[in-house]
Formats: sequence, C-alpha cells, structure tokens
Amino acid sequence: MGDRKPLLLLDVDGPLNPFRATKPPGYTMHKQPSMGQTFNVWLNHDHGRVLLDFADQHDVELVWCTTWEHDANVCIGPHIGLPELPVIEFGFTAHQWKFNAVLEYAAGRPLAWLDDDFPLFPKERAWFDEQRGDTPTLLHLISPSVGLTAQDLHTVAAWKYSLGGANATSLTPKRVQDATGWTARKGDG
Ligand SMILES: [Mg+2]
Repeated sequence: MGDRKPLLLLDVDGPLNPFRATKPPGYTMHKQPSMGQTFNVWLNHDHGRVLLDFADQHDVELVWCTTWEHDANVCIGPHIGLPELPVIEFGFTAHQWKFNAVLEYAAGRPLAWLDDDFPLFPKERAWFDEQRGDTPTLLHLISPSVGLTAQDLHTVAAWKYSLGGANATSLTPKRVQDATGWTARKGDG
C-alpha cells in the first residue's frame, strides 16, 4: 500500500451511464454483455480524459465502485478512455449495500464517491457515516437523468481543496472547467 491519496469512487450506472436520460447529449449507446445479459449503456467518450485529468490535477485515485465490478474494466473503461482501474468487490457477502465493502477498501483514506443511489439506503448510510467518523468523506449524489457534469467535479474539487495539505491546488470554477475541458451545461441544477 503506502499510497494514501484520497479515493474518487466511480459508480457506473447513474454517473457514467445516465440510464434515465433520453438521448443525452454527448453520449453514445453501447450494448454491453455482462453477467449473462446484455445491457444498453449510454457512455460519454470524453469522460475518461476528463476523469484522468481531474485525478492528476487533484491528486486522487480513481477506483471502480460499481456492481459491474471487474466488468467495468472490460465493458466501460475502454470505451471512455480509462485505463484498468482498481475495483472494489462486493461479492456475495456484501451487506450495508456497498458501504461495508467501501469502508474496508478505503481503510481510513479520505474518499469522494459519485453514485446515484445514496438516498435508497439511509440507514446504511448513517451506519457508514458513523464508521467513518472524522475521516473526510464526500458522498456526492449524481442524477441518473443527467450523468456526471462539470459541476459535480467542481464539488469534488472543492472538497479536495478543503482538505488542504501539500497537494492542495488553487481552485476556481474556471480552473476546474479548464481542467475538465467542459463547459458547464446550463440547467443541470
Ligand atoms: Mg448506480
């Protein structure tokens, strides 16, 4: 180990695949086999570059946190330009939704987490919050009707900046926008 930089945990369905959207701009439909089924997945081919630039600039480690588990490295990452990333495994012993596995994986490291399902698990989340204690933790909700936006990454950047430390980067909305290469979409809320 030794690497204690903050984690940026990535869910697939919701953040990277806005499955509730109808023809989301910038996304392409992919048919992906996984677990014996074929899924229709919206993917934005800019997301890999955006996330890698973000991780580099803000010194966070990208990790899959999705029920696609290792299939994310086969079915999702290559399409959007992400290299193979570490995977949080849930397996058959998962409990507390994804929270127990995340708690064990993070092992006290600060983490930001992009997911669309936090509101479905309030009791589990309360348990997780209690377990994490004072360890910096950002659970950032993504709309599955919109997917990941520049504003979302700005929120994560602001959180990372709030941690301070030697790797803190100066932060302005424009700088994040420049880093992501995105123009914030109007109306994303
Ligand atoms: Mg999801």
